[in-house]
Amino acid sequence: MDLGLGGGRRRVVVIGGGVAGSLIAKSIQFLSDVTLIDQKEYFEIPWASLRAMVEPSFGERSVINHRDYLTNGRLVTSSAINVTETEVLTAEGRLIAYDYLVIATGHTDSFPKTRTERLKEYQAEYEKINSAHSILIVGGGPTGVELAGEIAVDCPDKNLTLVHDGSRLLEFIGPKAADKTLNWLTSKKVEVKLEQSVRLDDISDGGKTYLTSDGDILKADCHFLCTGKPLGSLWLRGTNLKNNLDNHGRLMVDENLRVKGRKNVFAIGDITDVPEIKQGYLAQKHALVAAKNLKLLMEGEKESKLAKYQPSSVKAIVSLGRRDAVAQLSFTTVIGSVPGMIKSRDLFVGKTRKKLGLEIKL
Ligand SMILES: Cc1cc2nc3c(=O)[nH]c(=O)nc-3n(C[C@H](O)[C@H](O)[C@H](O)COP(=O)(O)OP(=O)(O)OC[C@H]3O[C@@H](n4cnc5c(N)ncnc54)[C@H](O)[C@@H]3O)c2cc1C
Repeated sequence: MDLGLGGGRRRVVVIGGGVAGSLIAKSIQFLSDVTLIDQKEYFEIPWASLRAMVEPSFGERSVINHRDYLTNGRLVTSSAINVTETEVLTAEGRLIAYDYLVIATGHTDSFPKTRTERLKEYQAEYEKINSAHSILIVGGGPTGVELAGEIAVDCPDKNLTLVHDGSRLLEFIGPKAADKTLNWLTSKKVEVKLEQSVRLDDISDGGKTYLTSDGDILKADCHFLCTGKPLGSLWLRGTNLKNNLDNHGRLMVDENLRVKGRKNVFAIGDITDVPEIKQGYLAQKHALVAAKNLKLLMEGEKESKLAKYQPSSVKAIVSLGRRDAVAQLSFTTVIGSVPGMIKSRDLFVGKTRKKLGLEIKL
């Protein structure tokens, strides 16, 4: 029964409005008194951002104001900086009381506060790509590879170089997927340099000459840094949850996705130590399990009735432009238009919007 905001319902505070936080906030907004705390006013589908750099209008559907799906909850646009047994403190000095807390601060980035500003950034990145003859991509993880794929397919006239300090691309999935991806990029005339890093403190010639750790000189009109984002747990180091962080800065959770030893604090998504690769579809699964458990706890159910989360085996699809992709499945890897049909056309944007209760198209 919906009792209206605050009307005797349990207070649930969700920190982080990314893939996991947005979905759990949406899922429980009519069952509890929800407050979503996020650094920005919008949720952005991370895996759609690289397409928006070559097609800025793509961002219209993938950058979603929290207000569009959170119609029955409070929104606080600020960073959480501290948490006690009963309250969360935000950077702007607000204290927000909770009965249940959900931490979903995945990864941090320096994105602007408003959706309009973020869409303008895409436009600026598009113009940067368009006006360059040669482009350097630093980093060969999923972000660097997907950006190289987008540019290679949409702007085949650009001279594209990708430099990665590891011995192979896409180290989070298997070596066969990495080899196939390398061949695909090479076939699109992308020059890939492995086991080298770019000395970003030593860019000369008006920002156009780069030096690598091997002493190679690279010429490029611009570069994109795709070296991964820091985990969003630094702020927890000064809180009473500091002892719940493992050596990688991840929150240690139990099988019900509660922070170990805490009855009313959940953690979901990339911030957790769940032994599986960090992927958005898994963060969504965490959100649904934690939402179910919150509902059971709020209804006074026994602990033994709580849902258990089963970690997943390695499965991922990395898009390679608009048509192709490389898929890491449990026992094999596939590259080309078949995995491409699953991901690369719409990049799961319609699917993600549907999960949030939004129209697939605008
Ligand atoms: C290029 C790329 C491609 C990808 N492709 C796929 C794919 O195809 N399929 C897939 O399943 N996954 C993919 N992923 C991985 C996926 O994006 C992540 O696993 C997912 O975003 C994790 O979700 P999350 O909610 O845990 O964290 P995030 O989505 O990182 O969200 C964290 C949120 O917390 C906020 N935050 C951080 N600190 C604070 C704070 N102190 N106070 C308030 N708010 C805070 C941030 O602003 C952000 O909104 C891809 C990732 C990238 C970068």
